[in-house]
Amino acid sequence: MDLDTYHKIVSQLPNSVTLIAVSKGQSIDKILKLYNDGQRHFGENFEQELTHKKENLPKDINWHFLGNMQTNKLKKISSSSYLIQSVSRKKVLDKLNNLNEKKAINVLLQYKLGNEDTKSGFSRAEIIENHERYKNSNSLKIIGLMGIAENSTEEKRTQNQFKEIAQLYNELKSKDENISTLSIGMSSDYNLAIESGSNMIRLGTVIFGKRK
Ligand SMILES: *Cc1c(COP(=O)(O)O)cnc(C)c1O
Repeated sequence: MDLDTYHKIVSQLPNSVTLIAVSKGQSIDKILKLYNDGQRHFGENFEQELTHKKENLPKDINWHFLGNMQTNKLKKISSSSYLIQSVSRKKVLDKLNNLNEKKAINVLLQYKLGNEDTKSGFSRAEIIENHERYKNSNSLKIIGLMGIAENSTEEKRTQNQFKEIAQLYNELKSKDENISTLSIGMSSDYNLAIESGSNMIRLGTVIFGKRK
């Protein structure tokens, strides 16, 4: 892991942008190094890995859940997460709502960018419909959108996808004051994402190096 790269990225980030260090497949030691440097937001994709790391690391870390969710693990995921970013199915949303947690669970709806079959996410119509359905829920609070740009080497294509999600985000924001978070941008495209209005970027390999 290269802390100089981390420092450089942090020093160049606009104040409005929160950096999530995506620590899936990375060791507790590496996470602690970043923690000791001030990093407090980390992202994980698997429930067991999240639970294990949360138990063995400082309590004031904010954990973000970024992975696919099996409905039988939602209780554990929601109790360990500061923000669940990868809600991409209505069934998951319904079940999270039905957990009836005393403190509302914060979630982002994942919007599907591009056409790759391997990527999940709601369509535009589904986002609007589910936001309407749950915007007044007491057990679930939708605070924004998350997106993953299609694997593409064409900058223009990535840029267009980020513009598309930013537009939908702004539409929701104009009618709901809870909407505050647009999570787009990963190691390969975070500068483009910030230019398009991202206020939360999720960086793994560029900070930590390759995953195990
Ligand atoms: C793994 C992952 C990241 C980090 O990806 P890098 O390319 O390593 O920066 C970001 N967002 C999500 C949803 C991920 O699953």
